[in-house]
Amino acid sequence: MTITAPDYILAIKPYVPGKPLEEAEREYGIEKSVKLASNENPLGPSPKAIKAISQSLASVNRYPDGSGYMLVNKLCAHLGLSPSNIVLGNGSDDIIAMLARVFLKPGCDVIIPSPSFLMYEISTMASGASLVKIPLTSLAIDLDRIKNAITQRTRMIFLCNPNNPTGSIITRDEFDRFIKDISKDIIIVLDEAYIEFVRDLSCLNSLEYLDRENPIVILRTFSKAYGLAGLRIGYGIGPEFICDLLNRVRQPFNTSLPAQKGACAALDDRHFLESTIKTVHDGLDFLCESLDNMRVKYFPTQANFMLIDVKKSADEVFEAMLRQGVIVRSMTSYGYPEYIRINSGTDFENRKFIKAFEKVMG
Ligand code: PMP
Repeated sequence: MTITAPDYILAIKPYVPGKPLEEAEREYGIEKSVKLASNENPLGPSPKAIKAISQSLASVNRYPDGSGYMLVNKLCAHLGLSPSNIVLGNGSDDIIAMLARVFLKPGCDVIIPSPSFLMYEISTMASGASLVKIPLTSLAIDLDRIKNAITQRTRMIFLCNPNNPTGSIITRDEFDRFIKDISKDIIIVLDEAYIEFVRDLSCLNSLEYLDRENPIVILRTFSKAYGLAGLRIGYGIGPEFICDLLNRVRQPFNTSLPAQKGACAALDDRHFLESTIKTVHDGLDFLCESLDNMRVKYFPTQANFMLIDVKKSADEVFEAMLRQGVIVRSMTSYGYPEYIRINSGTDFENRKFIKAFEKVMG
Protein backbone atom coordinates (compact mmCIF):
# COMPACT_ATOMS: atom_id res chain seq x y z
CA MET A 1 0.00 0.00 0.00
CA THR A 2 1.33 3.44 -0.89
CA ILE A 3 -0.87 5.53 1.38
CA THR A 4 1.01 6.77 4.40
CA ALA A 5 1.01 9.74 6.74
CA PRO A 6 3.65 12.41 7.33
CA ASP A 7 6.52 11.37 9.61
CA TYR A 8 5.28 13.66 12.37
CA ILE A 9 1.98 11.75 12.46
CA LEU A 10 3.70 8.37 12.38
CA ALA A 11 5.76 9.51 15.39
CA ILE A 12 2.67 10.03 17.58
CA LYS A 13 2.16 7.52 20.37
CA PRO A 14 -1.60 7.18 20.93
CA TYR A 15 -3.01 8.49 24.21
CA VAL A 16 -3.51 5.69 26.75
CA PRO A 17 -6.62 6.46 28.80
CA GLY A 18 -7.41 5.09 32.26
CA LYS A 19 -8.84 1.59 32.00
CA PRO A 20 -12.65 1.69 31.71
CA LEU A 21 -14.50 -0.08 34.53
CA GLU A 22 -16.39 -2.50 32.27
CA GLU A 23 -13.21 -3.53 30.45
CA ALA A 24 -11.34 -4.19 33.72
CA GLU A 25 -14.22 -6.25 35.09
CA ARG A 26 -14.49 -8.28 31.87
CA GLU A 27 -10.75 -8.94 31.62
CA TYR A 28 -10.12 -9.74 35.27
CA GLY A 29 -13.42 -11.41 36.12
CA ILE A 30 -13.98 -8.96 38.97
CA GLU A 31 -17.15 -7.20 40.09
CA LYS A 32 -18.00 -3.94 41.85
CA SER A 33 -14.60 -2.53 41.03
CA VAL A 34 -13.60 0.99 41.88
CA LYS A 35 -12.01 3.36 39.38
CA LEU A 36 -9.62 5.98 40.65
CA ALA A 37 -7.64 6.27 37.42
CA SER A 38 -9.11 9.16 35.42
CA ASN A 39 -9.67 11.99 37.92
CA GLU A 40 -13.43 11.75 37.44
CA ASN A 41 -16.13 13.00 39.79
CA PRO A 42 -16.84 10.24 42.35
CA LEU A 43 -20.35 11.54 43.10
CA GLY A 44 -21.63 11.02 39.54
CA PRO A 45 -23.25 13.88 37.63
CA SER A 46 -25.35 16.52 39.39
CA PRO A 47 -28.99 15.32 39.69
CA LYS A 48 -30.06 18.61 38.09
CA ALA A 49 -27.77 17.88 35.13
CA ILE A 50 -29.24 14.38 34.79
CA LYS A 51 -32.74 15.88 34.67
CA ALA A 52 -31.77 18.47 32.05
CA ILE A 53 -29.96 15.86 29.95
CA SER A 54 -32.96 13.50 30.10
CA GLN A 55 -35.33 16.28 29.07
CA SER A 56 -33.09 17.18 26.13
CA LEU A 57 -33.21 13.64 24.72
CA ALA A 58 -36.63 14.14 23.13
CA SER A 59 -35.07 16.80 20.87
CA VAL A 60 -32.00 14.98 19.64
CA ASN A 61 -33.62 14.53 16.22
CA ARG A 62 -32.59 18.19 15.70
CA TYR A 63 -29.06 19.49 15.36
CA PRO A 64 -27.92 21.34 18.46
CA ASP A 65 -27.42 25.10 18.50
CA GLY A 66 -23.90 25.16 17.06
CA SER A 67 -23.03 28.38 18.87
CA GLY A 68 -24.19 26.98 22.23
CA TYR A 69 -25.95 30.32 22.86
CA MET A 70 -27.51 29.42 26.25
CA LEU A 71 -24.39 27.85 27.69
CA VAL A 72 -22.07 30.56 26.43
CA ASN A 73 -24.30 33.23 27.94
CA LYS A 74 -24.52 31.40 31.23
CA LEU A 75 -20.73 31.07 31.33
CA CYS A 76 -20.43 34.80 30.60
CA ALA A 77 -22.72 35.61 33.51
CA HIS A 78 -20.66 33.34 35.80
CA LEU A 79 -17.30 34.65 34.70
CA GLY A 80 -18.07 38.27 33.86
CA LEU A 81 -16.97 37.86 30.24
CA SER A 82 -18.47 38.56 26.84
CA PRO A 83 -19.57 35.77 24.44
CA SER A 84 -16.82 36.76 22.01
CA ASN A 85 -14.27 35.54 24.60
CA ILE A 86 -15.60 31.97 24.83
CA VAL A 87 -15.32 28.94 22.55
CA LEU A 88 -17.09 25.70 23.40
CA GLY A 89 -15.34 22.39 22.88
CA ASN A 90 -16.13 18.70 22.76
CA GLY A 91 -14.18 18.50 26.01
CA SER A 92 -11.22 20.81 26.52
CA ASP A 93 -9.23 18.29 24.44
CA ASP A 94 -11.11 19.74 21.48
CA ILE A 95 -9.89 23.28 22.26
CA ILE A 96 -6.29 22.02 22.53
CA ALA A 97 -6.66 20.43 19.08
CA MET A 98 -8.21 23.62 17.64
CA LEU A 99 -5.39 25.76 19.06
CA ALA A 100 -2.83 23.49 17.41
CA ARG A 101 -4.71 23.45 14.13
CA VAL A 102 -5.05 27.23 13.94
CA PHE A 103 -1.70 28.44 15.24
CA LEU A 104 0.88 25.71 14.69
CA LYS A 105 2.72 24.43 11.65
CA PRO A 106 6.02 22.77 10.87
CA GLY A 107 8.87 25.10 11.75
CA CYS A 108 7.46 26.54 14.96
CA ASP A 109 8.10 25.39 18.52
CA VAL A 110 5.73 24.66 21.36
CA ILE A 111 7.05 24.59 24.90
CA ILE A 112 5.45 22.11 27.26
CA PRO A 113 6.37 21.14 30.80
CA SER A 114 7.24 17.48 31.16
CA PRO A 115 5.48 15.47 32.37
CA SER A 116 2.17 17.20 31.92
CA PHE A 117 -1.12 16.40 30.23
CA LEU A 118 -0.29 14.21 27.23
CA MET A 119 -2.70 15.84 24.77
CA TYR A 120 -0.48 18.95 24.44
CA GLU A 121 2.17 16.71 22.97
CA ILE A 122 -0.19 14.79 20.68
CA SER A 123 -1.92 17.89 19.26
CA THR A 124 1.42 19.67 18.74
CA MET A 125 2.86 16.67 16.93
CA ALA A 126 -0.26 16.35 14.78
CA SER A 127 0.34 19.91 13.51
CA GLY A 128 3.93 19.17 12.51
CA ALA A 129 5.30 21.76 14.96
CA SER A 130 8.25 20.85 17.20
CA LEU A 131 8.05 20.12 20.89
CA VAL A 132 10.39 21.65 23.43
CA LYS A 133 9.90 19.70 26.65
CA ILE A 134 11.03 21.37 29.86
CA PRO A 135 11.39 18.97 32.79
CA LEU A 136 9.59 19.76 36.04
CA THR A 137 11.65 20.82 39.05
CA SER A 138 10.62 18.97 42.23
CA LEU A 139 7.46 17.85 40.38
CA ALA A 140 6.39 21.46 39.68
CA ILE A 141 6.34 23.48 36.45
CA ASP A 142 9.56 25.49 36.30
CA LEU A 143 8.61 28.83 34.77
CA ASP A 144 12.18 30.17 34.87
CA ARG A 145 13.44 27.26 32.78
CA ILE A 146 10.49 27.61 30.43
CA LYS A 147 11.23 31.33 29.98
CA ASN A 148 14.89 30.57 29.26
CA ALA A 149 13.85 28.10 26.55
CA ILE A 150 11.89 30.71 24.54
CA THR A 151 13.32 31.48 21.10
CA GLN A 152 12.15 33.24 17.93
CA ARG A 153 10.50 29.96 16.94
CA THR A 154 8.33 29.68 20.07
CA ARG A 155 4.67 30.03 19.16
CA MET A 156 2.81 28.55 22.10
CA ILE A 157 3.43 27.54 25.72
CA PHE A 158 1.16 25.08 27.53
CA LEU A 159 0.90 25.46 31.31
CA CYS A 160 -1.26 23.10 33.31
CA ASN A 161 -2.50 24.57 36.59
CA PRO A 162 -2.77 22.42 38.68
CA ASN A 163 -0.45 20.18 36.73
CA ASN A 164 -1.60 16.72 35.67
CA PRO A 165 -0.10 14.34 36.86
CA THR A 166 1.76 16.01 39.76
CA GLY A 167 -0.94 18.25 41.30
CA SER A 168 1.45 21.22 41.66
CA ILE A 169 0.26 24.79 41.08
CA ILE A 170 1.62 27.98 39.59
CA THR A 171 1.47 30.86 42.06
CA ARG A 172 0.46 34.42 41.20
CA ASP A 173 3.99 35.66 42.01
CA GLU A 174 5.64 33.04 39.80
CA PHE A 175 3.35 33.89 36.92
CA ASP A 176 3.85 37.66 37.32
CA ARG A 177 7.61 37.17 37.06
CA PHE A 178 7.16 34.86 34.07
CA ILE A 179 4.77 36.96 32.00
CA LYS A 180 6.93 40.10 32.34
CA ASP A 181 8.74 40.78 29.04
CA ILE A 182 7.37 37.73 27.23
CA SER A 183 6.79 38.37 23.53
CA LYS A 184 3.19 39.24 22.66
CA ASP A 185 3.51 36.81 19.72
CA ILE A 186 3.49 33.76 21.99
CA ILE A 187 0.17 32.23 22.99
CA ILE A 188 0.12 31.11 26.61
CA VAL A 189 -2.37 28.34 27.26
CA LEU A 190 -3.40 27.94 30.89
CA ASP A 191 -5.15 24.61 31.31
CA GLU A 192 -7.32 24.78 34.41
CA ALA A 193 -9.10 21.42 34.22
CA TYR A 194 -8.68 20.99 38.01
CA ILE A 195 -8.81 24.62 39.18
CA GLU A 196 -11.97 24.14 41.30
CA PHE A 197 -10.08 21.84 43.68
CA VAL A 198 -7.22 24.22 44.54
CA ARG A 199 -6.95 25.07 48.24
CA ASP A 200 -3.74 27.12 48.16
CA LEU A 201 -4.66 30.81 48.17
CA SER A 202 -1.40 31.82 46.47
CA CYS A 203 -2.56 30.11 43.25
CA LEU A 204 -2.67 32.18 40.09
CA ASN A 205 -6.10 33.62 39.19
CA SER A 206 -5.87 33.48 35.42
CA LEU A 207 -8.99 35.57 34.75
CA GLU A 208 -7.13 38.61 36.12
CA TYR A 209 -4.71 38.42 33.20
CA LEU A 210 -7.15 38.40 30.31
CA ASP A 211 -6.89 42.11 29.57
CA ARG A 212 -3.10 42.00 29.15
CA GLU A 213 -1.51 42.32 25.75
CA ASN A 214 -0.11 38.80 25.97
CA PRO A 215 -2.55 36.39 24.34
CA ILE A 216 -3.68 34.06 27.11
CA VAL A 217 -6.11 31.21 26.52
CA ILE A 218 -7.67 29.53 29.56
CA LEU A 219 -9.03 25.99 29.25
CA ARG A 220 -11.82 24.79 31.52
CA THR A 221 -13.87 21.63 31.56
CA PHE A 222 -17.12 20.17 32.83
CA SER A 223 -15.44 16.74 33.04
CA LYS A 224 -14.02 16.97 36.56
CA ALA A 225 -15.66 19.07 39.30
CA TYR A 226 -18.92 19.22 37.32
CA GLY A 227 -19.08 15.46 36.77
CA LEU A 228 -19.82 15.37 33.03
CA ALA A 229 -16.75 13.62 31.56
CA GLY A 230 -18.86 11.23 29.49
CA LEU A 231 -20.79 14.05 27.83
CA ARG A 232 -17.65 15.75 26.48
CA ILE A 233 -17.93 19.44 27.12
CA GLY A 234 -15.34 22.07 27.94
CA TYR A 235 -14.47 25.59 26.84
CA GLY A 236 -11.72 28.02 26.09
CA ILE A 237 -11.57 31.63 27.26
CA GLY A 238 -9.41 34.05 25.34
CA PRO A 239 -9.06 37.29 23.40
CA GLU A 240 -11.72 37.90 20.76
CA PHE A 241 -9.33 37.49 17.82
CA ILE A 242 -8.24 34.05 19.05
CA CYS A 243 -11.81 32.89 19.72
CA ASP A 244 -12.78 34.10 16.26
CA LEU A 245 -9.99 32.06 14.66
CA LEU A 246 -10.82 28.96 16.71
CA ASN A 247 -14.46 29.25 15.68
CA ARG A 248 -13.40 29.10 12.04
CA VAL A 249 -12.05 25.56 12.43
CA ARG A 250 -14.50 24.41 15.10
CA GLN A 251 -16.81 21.70 13.83
CA PRO A 252 -20.22 23.31 13.45
CA PHE A 253 -21.91 21.00 15.98
CA ASN A 254 -18.98 20.04 18.19
CA THR A 255 -21.03 20.11 21.40
CA SER A 256 -24.21 18.05 21.58
CA LEU A 257 -27.59 19.23 22.83
CA PRO A 258 -27.49 16.97 25.95
CA ALA A 259 -23.98 18.25 26.68
CA GLN A 260 -25.03 21.90 26.41
CA LYS A 261 -28.14 21.36 28.55
CA GLY A 262 -26.29 19.24 31.11
CA ALA A 263 -23.52 21.83 31.41
CA CYS A 264 -26.05 24.68 31.91
CA ALA A 265 -27.74 22.76 34.72
CA ALA A 266 -24.42 21.72 36.28
CA LEU A 267 -23.23 25.32 36.29
CA ASP A 268 -26.33 26.34 38.25
CA ASP A 269 -26.00 23.51 40.78
CA ARG A 270 -23.68 25.19 43.28
CA HIS A 271 -24.70 22.71 45.97
CA PHE A 272 -23.44 19.76 43.91
CA LEU A 273 -20.19 21.54 43.09
CA GLU A 274 -19.60 22.29 46.76
CA SER A 275 -20.30 18.71 47.84
CA THR A 276 -17.95 17.45 45.14
CA ILE A 277 -15.16 19.71 46.34
CA LYS A 278 -15.75 18.73 49.98
CA THR A 279 -15.84 15.01 49.12
CA VAL A 280 -12.59 15.33 47.18
CA HIS A 281 -10.82 17.31 49.92
CA ASP A 282 -12.00 15.00 52.72
CA GLY A 283 -10.95 12.03 50.59
CA LEU A 284 -7.48 13.43 49.94
CA ASP A 285 -7.01 14.14 53.67
CA PHE A 286 -8.04 10.57 54.49
CA LEU A 287 -5.75 9.11 51.82
CA CYS A 288 -2.77 11.19 53.00
CA GLU A 289 -3.32 10.17 56.61
CA SER A 290 -3.64 6.49 55.67
CA LEU A 291 -0.52 6.60 53.49
CA ASP A 292 1.38 8.36 56.29
CA ASN A 293 0.39 5.50 58.61
CA MET A 294 1.68 3.04 56.02
CA ARG A 295 4.88 5.12 55.64
CA VAL A 296 4.30 5.32 51.91
CA LYS A 297 5.63 8.38 50.10
CA TYR A 298 3.17 10.58 48.21
CA PHE A 299 3.33 14.12 46.90
CA PRO A 300 1.29 17.13 48.04
CA THR A 301 -1.45 18.02 45.60
CA GLN A 302 -3.85 20.86 44.79
CA ALA A 303 -5.92 18.79 42.36
CA ASN A 304 -8.38 15.91 42.89
CA PHE A 305 -5.60 13.33 42.39
CA MET A 306 -2.22 12.51 43.84
CA LEU A 307 0.99 10.75 42.93
CA ILE A 308 2.20 7.88 45.09
CA ASP A 309 5.76 6.56 45.02
CA VAL A 310 5.37 2.77 45.14
CA LYS A 311 9.15 2.18 44.91
CA LYS A 312 8.64 -0.73 42.54
CA SER A 313 7.15 -1.27 39.09
CA ALA A 314 4.04 0.90 38.80
CA ASP A 315 2.78 -1.38 36.02
CA GLU A 316 2.95 -4.36 38.39
CA VAL A 317 1.18 -2.45 41.16
CA PHE A 318 -1.49 -1.42 38.63
CA GLU A 319 -2.04 -5.09 37.71
CA ALA A 320 -2.08 -6.26 41.32
CA MET A 321 -4.53 -3.51 42.30
CA LEU A 322 -6.79 -4.47 39.39
CA ARG A 323 -6.98 -8.00 40.74
CA GLN A 324 -8.18 -6.45 44.01
CA GLY A 325 -10.87 -4.57 42.07
CA VAL A 326 -9.26 -1.11 42.17
CA ILE A 327 -8.24 0.68 38.97
CA VAL A 328 -5.33 3.07 39.46
CA ARG A 329 -3.13 4.72 36.83
CA SER A 330 0.45 3.62 36.28
CA MET A 331 2.62 6.65 35.56
CA THR A 332 5.02 4.74 33.30
CA SER A 333 3.71 6.51 30.18
CA TYR A 334 4.32 9.84 31.93
CA GLY A 335 7.96 8.87 32.61
CA TYR A 336 7.51 7.83 36.25
CA PRO A 337 7.83 4.01 36.18
CA GLU A 338 7.57 3.75 39.99
CA TYR A 339 4.68 6.15 40.62
CA ILE A 340 0.97 5.55 40.45
CA ARG A 341 -1.71 8.26 40.30
CA ILE A 342 -5.05 7.95 42.02
CA ASN A 343 -7.89 10.40 42.30
CA SER A 344 -9.84 10.96 45.46
CA GLY A 345 -13.05 8.91 45.37
CA THR A 346 -15.96 8.54 47.75
CA ASP A 347 -15.19 7.47 51.30
CA PHE A 348 -16.11 3.89 50.37
CA GLU A 349 -13.84 3.94 47.33
CA ASN A 350 -10.92 5.47 49.21
CA ARG A 351 -11.19 2.87 51.98
CA LYS A 352 -11.35 0.09 49.40
CA PHE A 353 -8.22 1.54 47.78
CA ILE A 354 -6.29 1.65 51.06
CA LYS A 355 -7.31 -1.89 51.98
CA ALA A 356 -6.23 -3.24 48.58
CA PHE A 357 -3.07 -1.14 48.58
CA GLU A 358 -2.04 -2.51 51.98
CA LYS A 359 -2.39 -6.02 50.59
CA VAL A 360 -0.49 -5.24 47.37
CA MET A 361 2.33 -3.39 49.10
CA GLY A 362 2.65 -6.12 51.74
N1 PMP B 1 -6.55 19.03 30.64
C1 PMP B 1 -6.12 18.24 31.62
C2 PMP B 1 -5.01 18.71 32.48
C3 PMP B 1 -6.72 16.99 31.83
O1 PMP B 1 -6.25 16.20 32.79
C4 PMP B 1 -7.78 16.59 31.00
C5 PMP B 1 -8.48 15.26 31.15
N2 PMP B 1 -7.81 14.24 31.65
C6 PMP B 1 -8.17 17.45 30.00
C7 PMP B 1 -7.56 18.68 29.84
C8 PMP B 1 -9.24 17.08 29.02
O2 PMP B 1 -10.45 17.14 29.60
P1 PMP B 1 -11.79 17.06 28.76
O3 PMP B 1 -11.41 16.90 27.32
O4 PMP B 1 -12.53 15.93 29.32
O5 PMP B 1 -12.44 18.39 28.99
